Amino acid sequence: MRSIAVMNQKGGVGKTTSSVNLAAALARHGRRVCLVDLDPQAHASLHLGVEAGPEMPSAYNVFTGQCTLDDTRQLVIDNLSLVPANIDLAATELELAGQSGREFLLRNAMRHWKEQQRFDYVVIDCPPSLGVLTINALTAVNEVFIPLQPHFFALQGLSKLFETTALVTRRLNRDLRVTGIMLCLYESGTRLAADVVEDLKLFLRSSDAESPWSKARIFSTKIRRNIKLAEAPGFGQSVLDYAPGSAGAVDYEAMAAEVLAMEVAAAGPLLAAA
Ligand code: ADP
Ligand code: MG
Repeated sequence: MRSIAVMNQKGGVGKTTSSVNLAAALARHGRRVCLVDLDPQAHASLHLGVEAGPEMPSAYNVFTGQCTLDDTRQLVIDNLSLVPANIDLAATELELAGQSGREFLLRNAMRHWKEQQRFDYVVIDCPPSLGVLTINALTAVNEVFIPLQPHFFALQGLSKLFETTALVTRRLNRDLRVTGIMLCLYESGTRLAADVVEDLKLFLRSSDAESPWSKARIFSTKIRRNIKLAEAPGFGQSVLDYAPGSAGAVDYEAMAAEVLAMEVAAAGPLLAAA
């Protein structure tokens, strides 16, 4: 089971759009996928047409210990389940303050999925902060995907984000690695985009071999700015259902293909060792 946190403490960089559409594209390839919405704004849930009212079990109830992940999970598309969020999740930060072991709540809740290989992919849409919810996501997963919008200030804040992953790797989850950076809202052909990508490459190349991002790649698929991606949430559908064939659908299908190709790469050495 691959487990992926889609994380960046900046808002509006494409976390939710990428989580939802990548998860939907992987499910189309027959992978069993669960998308976990960890943002109190619940944009990923709404994007898939799920509005978790107070009566609907949601991620919040998992953090309070009232529900298991399976109690809250609902099938939204073939092969794609969703653990929805709602605004209640905003209270966890305060409610969990001072509770020992609070960083491990999601990891513990996901343990049986890992043991039973319940899914091929768990994708977690993180909130735009480095608080307890994001730390829970990083403690529960093996991989981090970082959506980044290539603009002048894009690299600012990235070092803080990397520091946080390094901290989690040292203290909470030795298996955590940054798999890659997804360039979103990409305007191809602009000087700025090219400059940001160059800076990013330099930054990654100069990284310490011990760091969790030492093997991070910049995904070769770039997610272009495409209006269909912004419209799809309003229809409660992934872009693949809302606008098949659009640039947005094509880009996320290509991203999924790139992610799937890594399965083979990952299996290679294991197979060789067997
Ligand atoms: P985050 O989850 O990081 O806050 P979102 O995925 O919600 O970011 O994206 C922010 C806004 O930009 C949303 O309104 C979304 O629909 C829009 N958006 C995201 N990616 C694209 C894209 N490639 N093209 C056009 N609009 C996009
Ligand atoms: Mg979001």
